[in-house]
Amino acid sequence: DRHHTIVIVGGGAAGISVASSLHKRDRRLDIAILEPSATHHYQPGWTMVGGGVFQPEVTSRPMSQVMPGFVSWYQQAVSGVMPEQNQVRLADGSSISYQALVLAPWLELNWSAIDGLESALGDNGVTSNYRQGMAQYTWQTVQALKKGRALFSQPPMPIKCAGAPQKAMYLSSDHWRRNGVLGQLDIQFHNAGAVLFGVPAYVPALQEYIDKYGIQVNFQSNLVAVNGPARKATFRLTEAEGNSQDRELDFDMLHAVPPQRAPGFIRESVLANDGGWLNLADDTLQHKTFANIFGLGDVSGTGNAKTAAAVRKQAPVVAENLIASLRNQPLPAAYLGYGSCPLTVENGRIVLAEFGYNGVLQPSFPQWVNDGTKATRAAWWLKAKQLPTLYWHGMLKGREWLAGPAVREHH
Ligand code: FAD
Repeated sequence: DRHHTIVIVGGGAAGISVASSLHKRDRRLDIAILEPSATHHYQPGWTMVGGGVFQPEVTSRPMSQVMPGFVSWYQQAVSGVMPEQNQVRLADGSSISYQALVLAPWLELNWSAIDGLESALGDNGVTSNYRQGMAQYTWQTVQALKKGRALFSQPPMPIKCAGAPQKAMYLSSDHWRRNGVLGQLDIQFHNAGAVLFGVPAYVPALQEYIDKYGIQVNFQSNLVAVNGPARKATFRLTEAEGNSQDRELDFDMLHAVPPQRAPGFIRESVLANDGGWLNLADDTLQHKTFANIFGLGDVSGTGNAKTAAAVRKQAPVVAENLIASLRNQPLPAAYLGYGSCPLTVENGRIVLAEFGYNGVLQPSFPQWVNDGTKATRAAWWLKAKQLPTLYWHGMLKGREWLAGPAVREHH
């Protein structure tokens, strides 16, 4: 039977970062990562690929390059957790036992919840920046489109990077504006939710761009079916009385985003909260039932924005608290819910939304450097030129000066 002191499930943004943060604190720790994929993806770059700003190659690296040398890497998926036995089950039927477990698998993109979508992707103008390898097709479609109707959908919350469905729309619209075809296009945003953005402080800046691009906004309009060859999309509209009504629209381009949920082995287990997400304490990121289990990243049921930016603040908190728990000490670190969503409103400007639990603004910069509630060039420069490097060489390597002071805020 195989055993490791710390087993981490997932070698994405969260799994690799937390391994590095643990190792920084104690170089003798025996850490294993369970990660089936041969490639690590920098998903925040996919928006930029879809907008023709990044080349697709810069958004991925071989997992073997990203995986720290000090971990034991099992290239296998986890199929179940047995928290009472301190074991995880692997896809091949074998198991590994642990003293402490960190759960950082992603979330599941539920493509099949939208009838016909998955098979329609990549043809007839149907695309999604949420699909690995598909952002390039978004950019090709945008460039080819000179007239007609472009639809952009946003599913019910929570989703990873809540602003990304709109980012695709703004960058596309900006391209059409620069090429003088905006007037020939009917651009529509169909949002299953009732507001443009969950934190009101950022809405005015976004609304300005909605007006500037002439985008028609539809709230409580949820994409439920796609027919690629016929180029038809069906939206379910929820009315005030709770009644719903289906509406079919023709399109020339459709950027679709599927509803999202925790992977089945979490969602359908004792580890989940009522919503099916990993049941963690908001501040310590310790599991609410099993004290030797921690978690972070998109799978987490904490109410933060599901972003890599959140992971940057969460990883040191998990590392600090997990090591304390191994030593039977009180948990010293707290996460305040930070997450960030750089809203690419045009090529060259970003509204840098940064906020914590309950929508409390948590800007990283003083207002004279960058006002997060406005579209700024400084924020674009940060996203386009700095953040990818900070991701690969800072966050994934456990260089925590990037994480700021949250980890020091004891409770
Ligand atoms: P991931 O990075 O997705 O990694 C999860 C890993 O777990 C994967 O490697 C996977 O192979 C592995 N795994 C899955 N299942 C299993 C299993 N059963 N067993 C073992 N391993 C498993 N964030 C930002 O901060 N800023 C942005 O601008 C931004 N824009 C985005 C735009 C798009 C289009 C998308 C899709 C995401 C964006 N994000 C952004 C969100 C960001 O990518 C995620 O929040 C972040 O990657 C979460 O890290 P994670 O480790 O939880 O999940």
